[in-house]
Amino acid sequence: MLPIDGLSEVEQLFVETVSRFVDGQVIPSAHDLERSNTYPEALINQMKEMGLFGLAIPEPYGAGRVSALAFAIISEELARGWMSLAGSIGSHTVISYLIDVFGTSEQKEYYLPPMATGEIRAAMALTEPGGGSDLQAMLTTATRDGDHYVINGTKTWITNAERAGVIGVLLKTDPHAKPAHKGMSLILAEKGPGFSVSRSLSKLGYRGVETCELAFNDFRVPASAVLGGVEGQGFRQMMTGLELGRVQVAARSVGVARAAFDAALAYSQQREAFGQPIWRHQFIGGYLADMGTKLLASRLLLVHAARAFDEGRRSDLEAGMAKLFASEAALEIATSSMRIHGSYGYSTELDVERYYRDAPLMIIGEGTNEIQRNVIARQLVERGHLL
Ligand SMILES: Cc1cc2nc3c(=O)[nH]c(=O)nc-3n(C[C@H](O)[C@H](O)[C@H](O)COP(=O)(O)OP(=O)(O)OC[C@H]3O[C@@H](n4cnc5c(N)ncnc54)[C@H](O)[C@@H]3O)c2cc1C
Repeated sequence: MLPIDGLSEVEQLFVETVSRFVDGQVIPSAHDLERSNTYPEALINQMKEMGLFGLAIPEPYGAGRVSALAFAIISEELARGWMSLAGSIGSHTVISYLIDVFGTSEQKEYYLPPMATGEIRAAMALTEPGGGSDLQAMLTTATRDGDHYVINGTKTWITNAERAGVIGVLLKTDPHAKPAHKGMSLILAEKGPGFSVSRSLSKLGYRGVETCELAFNDFRVPASAVLGGVEGQGFRQMMTGLELGRVQVAARSVGVARAAFDAALAYSQQREAFGQPIWRHQFIGGYLADMGTKLLASRLLLVHAARAFDEGRRSDLEAGMAKLFASEAALEIATSSMRIHGSYGYSTELDVERYYRDAPLMIIGEGTNEIQRNVIARQLVERGHLL
């Protein structure tokens, strides 16, 4: 792996530990777990022990928050072994970050210590059957009733939902607010009567970890479950969280692309056709050159976005560009790796076809790439310059 400037000594050691875990534990088992769509209990338990569920949680609630850069590189490492494992810490880290930044002291004290150890895991529920891009059109509501809110609605495509102890649900506390985002709040919901996982969804890739539909039917939560204790802040809070989430999706893309590229680079030197290693054929060499260039560009955009986030700057443009470019590159690199492997790329015995199935999620998740282009264009105009 290329060394990364800007990681502290502790973060560097963390990355190296994760890297060894990926080589020693993840890569040997991911293939079978993924094909059988088995929840990776043992690997998740090891990730808990390594502190990977506490990456955004500062002292005294956890062992200390790492930088967004370290979070990105750790996520990239996990994803080069198996993207689903990086996904399992994605929304958990976003929600723990939001609780730390916006939560009341009671919310921090109650949730952050068990979230740091992974004893409580979090999911993030934004998307609804009617749409995920136009969040302000969502239909899930929380109606105030004395000291409680009563929640009604359906969320879908919610990753980690079955095993989550807390779910950050974006909904409307004032469905008539104009603009709509001013009536949106983020509620920290724990399962109970009226709140159930109604369906587990079947997926092309990103298997092993669960993605589900959630049903809320007159589900009551105490008023203190609103993140930060004040209504109407949810959209703004979530947009901050999504900056970190998009950095992570870019990191997952780089991880998958790296695995696909490394496999192609090795195979193209072993496999011979017409009396020479296939990389010497101009087309294959050309693929490798394009793949390597896009992989490196993806990594550089990822590092740039993570640093912007760490500097406390508004970073939706940087995170959007990293996510857009890296995910499109991952899709292309996974496809090229499959081409280079010929028939073996199509075989379920190798991991190449998994990279090809996992890569498309990153063009959709945490805001589709069409939405990223909208965000980037608006920010370019607002900032008036890029470089
Ligand atoms: C495996 C998986 C896991 C997921 N996990 C989670 C999760 O944990 N939590 C969660 O909340 N969601 C999750 N999602 C949902 C994901 O965030 C949404 O799928 C995504 O935001 C897009 O929403 P949609 O699928 O409803 O598409 P739509 O919003 O219906 O969009 C359909 C198409 O129209 C395009 N489009 C829409 N509006 C515009 C526009 N203004 N300009 C240009 N094009 C536009 C979109 O880009 C897309 O191509 C997950 C999705 C998947 C597949």
